[in-house]
Amino acid sequence: MLDTSLKRFFLNFSANVHRPTRMAENPVDCMKYIVVSGGVLSGIGKGVTASSVGVLMKSLGYRVTAIKIDPYLNSDAGTMSPFEHGEVFVLDDGGEVDLDLGNYERFLDITLNRDNNLTTGKVYSSVIERERKGDYLGKTVQVVPHITNEIQDRIERIAHTPSDGSDETPDICVIELGGTVGDIESAPFVEALRQFQFRVGRENICFLHVSLVPVIGVVGEQKTKPTQHSVKGLMASGIQPDFLVCRSSEPILSEVKTKLSLFCHVSETSVFSAHDVSNIYRVPMMLEEQGATKEICKRLNLDLSTERPLLEEWGNLAQRMDELSGDVHIAMVGKYTGLSDSYLSVIKALNHSALAEGVNLFIDWVEASDLETSNEGSETHSKSWDLVKAADGILVPGGFGDRGIEGKILAAQFARENKIPYLGVCLGLQIATIEFARNVLGLAGANSTEFDEDTPHPTVIFMPEGSRTHMGGTMRLGSRQTNLQTTDCAAYRLYNGAMEIQERHRHRYEVNPDMVNDLEAAGLRFVGKDTEGVRMEIIEMVDHPFFFATQYHPEFKSRPNRPSPPFHGLIKASLGREI
Ligand code: GLN
Repeated sequence: MLDTSLKRFFLNFSANVHRPTRMAENPVDCMKYIVVSGGVLSGIGKGVTASSVGVLMKSLGYRVTAIKIDPYLNSDAGTMSPFEHGEVFVLDDGGEVDLDLGNYERFLDITLNRDNNLTTGKVYSSVIERERKGDYLGKTVQVVPHITNEIQDRIERIAHTPSDGSDETPDICVIELGGTVGDIESAPFVEALRQFQFRVGRENICFLHVSLVPVIGVVGEQKTKPTQHSVKGLMASGIQPDFLVCRSSEPILSEVKTKLSLFCHVSETSVFSAHDVSNIYRVPMMLEEQGATKEICKRLNLDLSTERPLLEEWGNLAQRMDELSGDVHIAMVGKYTGLSDSYLSVIKALNHSALAEGVNLFIDWVEASDLETSNEGSETHSKSWDLVKAADGILVPGGFGDRGIEGKILAAQFARENKIPYLGVCLGLQIATIEFARNVLGLAGANSTEFDEDTPHPTVIFMPEGSRTHMGGTMRLGSRQTNLQTTDCAAYRLYNGAMEIQERHRHRYEVNPDMVNDLEAAGLRFVGKDTEGVRMEIIEMVDHPFFFATQYHPEFKSRPNRPSPPFHGLIKASLGREI
């Protein structure tokens, strides 16, 4: 149970803060842009830095939105493997986008659209389509100006699209340029952003470059050369960074800041250290304490004089994160367990839930195929089963393809038979249903047609509206409504008494409606269905403390201060706490 002060903290966390009047008084379109680029290495926290800068701006009362530029040729992330690219994040509108959009939604508590993820694929398809229509008749269609104009038009349009649930135009747009400066793919975007300074006015756009300062040698010398080189690359493209955010394991020394200022043509007060901290909620405060908000406001002519309750709330959140006590162990039985980015939102949702319960979360990664009987006798088999057996709760996340399916089914069976708290997400619901059909209804060979087209008992089947020829954007995607069928279920309690639930989807297969009656008669409860009542959305189980699975992906809407209800349910049940 949350104590009252904690409850108040959660309720207040995203309360609307006072908006300064300055922006409203501005006579012209005064959208401000903060462009975040990266140098030296990918994966150094550009997304977290950009989101944190967004939080600082939001704390001033401005409406902040975000655009992620991904310079690849795919239209969207939907067809990319989580192995290569990390999780595919799903938006309300069904957009399948880069996982950084998840960072923005969680940090800024906003709802983005598919267009907020700008890719080379999207830009080129629309220019080529227009060329075919004859829109550029007589002209040679070129990267400059046609592609670069299209990029700028899109940025302006997207920046002005409301994203905070109101119909108000945002005041500030954070643009994260994916990849690292100097990549061939990003060149047209860098060029478009160079031109964009003149379109919107230098006083309305600033450039922040995130770079790496490695610490080497026994004395721990902080090396500036990689940053110098990456800034040179940016300047050669016509962009002079206004701010440097230096990732490092240690706080950047003041003499190192001086050196960077000197060699990178950035004022000393505009070089910020982004060193390792105990948790990511500390990043906004870390930048704040070095004067980042003040410097950005000065550069963009923004009003700094306002109370900032949001900052205090972030400070509290970071503090609470450092004061967790007690442990909860969740066995995550998945396929991409070597790469935690593949399940980023699931991890976040678990973290938010553990934070709400004030406990340390331990995720025990279990490669599903290691659990299979074909591996019996091997060390990985016994070690994996040890992890599953020792866990307080078991989670089977979403997935595609048949590798590891039998292992996941065994994990669901173990959870059901031993009354271990279980959460299944999407595929995790489908395999739990298959397991029940096989082992409770006694239907040997029951399966999903995704894994066995000739199964004698098709328990999970291809949805009629799906496409078998086009893979991109053809799944059942985005926000759909689930109607609860009864108030006598965990879902009703977890969703605070709501009978209608909006969550995000991404799947091609569903529980076979023809088998629902038999499954239900044997004790599998379909407590949530779509609005037509034919598509199974939530399952629970009779005589089990917490066996909960959803066809939708609840992880995408989890927030640090509002954990996703099913994940919160799993953590509570795993701790033996009341739901
Ligand atoms: N592969 C399954 C389907 O397409 C599950 C998808 C998922 O877990 N996201 O329905």
